[in-house]
Amino acid sequence: MGRFSSSGNTAGSIVLLLPVAGYQNGEFLAAGGRLGVEIVAVSDYCRALAPMWGLSPLASVPFDRPLAALPRVLRALKARPDAVLAADDHGLELAACLRAHFELPGNAPEAIRVTRDKYLFRSLLAQGGFCCPAVHVLADAQQPADLAAALDFPVVVKPRRLSTSRGVIRADSPGAFLRAVAQARRIQADAAPDDQPLGLLVERFIPGSEYALEGLLKRGELRVLALFDKPDPLDGPYFEETLYVTPSRLPVEDQKRIADTVQRACAQAGLTEGPVHAELRLNSEGVFLLEIAARSIGGLCGRILRHALGMSLEELILRAALDWPIPEPGVALAAGVMMIPIPWRGIYHGVHHLEAARRVPGVEDVQITALPGQRVSPAPEGSSYLGFIFSRGDRPEGAEAALRAAHGRLAFDIQPEIRLDKAP
Ligand code: ADP
Repeated sequence: MGRFSSSGNTAGSIVLLLPVAGYQNGEFLAAGGRLGVEIVAVSDYCRALAPMWGLSPLASVPFDRPLAALPRVLRALKARPDAVLAADDHGLELAACLRAHFELPGNAPEAIRVTRDKYLFRSLLAQGGFCCPAVHVLADAQQPADLAAALDFPVVVKPRRLSTSRGVIRADSPGAFLRAVAQARRIQADAAPDDQPLGLLVERFIPGSEYALEGLLKRGELRVLALFDKPDPLDGPYFEETLYVTPSRLPVEDQKRIADTVQRACAQAGLTEGPVHAELRLNSEGVFLLEIAARSIGGLCGRILRHALGMSLEELILRAALDWPIPEPGVALAAGVMMIPIPWRGIYHGVHHLEAARRVPGVEDVQITALPGQRVSPAPEGSSYLGFIFSRGDRPEGAEAALRAAHGRLAFDIQPEIRLDKAP
């Protein structure tokens, strides 16, 4: 820490880890501008190309290798920041290492490590007496047939450290389990070829409806920003996210149980500061946490909270990181967002009837984020969406109906991929 002086900027300076093409990068930078804080952007462009493009050393930092990345960032930083944040999952560990180095408040690297590894998280839940399905780790060298006999079907197979439902597959029989393992192993290897072998997680399928909680931690206290219903059934075999609608239609008692479970799990994991996004299932046995991540909701989904929060979610996160006051949320209309699912694998060419979808009553906006020429794949192979539909209404039912109606009007042009080795 020795060579660093304070930034000297009275409004504060924040080191912000912005992954290449991160959905929220623009919102974070805009929020920084509005607040008048200095944003020192760190990104993960290709290390070979970035210098040729004239980018600073801070533009090509390997987020996925925090120990190698840390000294590179420290060498390139000019001043000690007032806060370090990651815009999404990829940079969480490195951000935590930087905070630890600068002795800044925030979640410790160990808390991030535990919540990013689905097996460590499950172990933590089991130790803490939370509802938790039976879990096995299938090592990369292990034959899945050896485990199949011990399983109580249906099960869900998933890579330990991927996100956005990538590689998450339900299997209802030993045969389906063997196929799921082969597919999940391939997806895991393609997604993170350099990762140390972690194996796959195999856990009992948890029945029930699914919810998501968006919150903010301050000195260990959870403030719930929104509880979302996920009204589309997520029964597999693949688990593509689609609808999030708030406020939740659950009875208040259930909402309290969910908030209480997330609060206790954060304490158990050692998460104490900043945004928290939890995904969970609710059934007659209780609240089953699927994940708790020390970041905000992904994609452009956070936009639907702007009215309730009186500011963008990203602005609220920056304020919290600097320990600035955060106003109480106002009363807002119901709101919903659809992550537009990818119907089949191929090359995205374009979309028809976009304006008609935008004109559906209750729809606030439709943003298509896929780019023409882009290869797109649905879950469990892909990790992106075609775009986002945002709606508002007096009631959650109306906000949800508007999303479905707008989606029904869109027609996507996705052409099959022509493999060159198979071309005539
Ligand atoms: P990711 O972090 O990649 O999103 P998750 O573990 O959160 O992976 O799983 C993604 C989705 O898969 C969940 O939102 C849920 O719908 C489904 N899912 C995962 N595990 C289970 C399970 N054990 N039982 C039922 N559904 C599950």
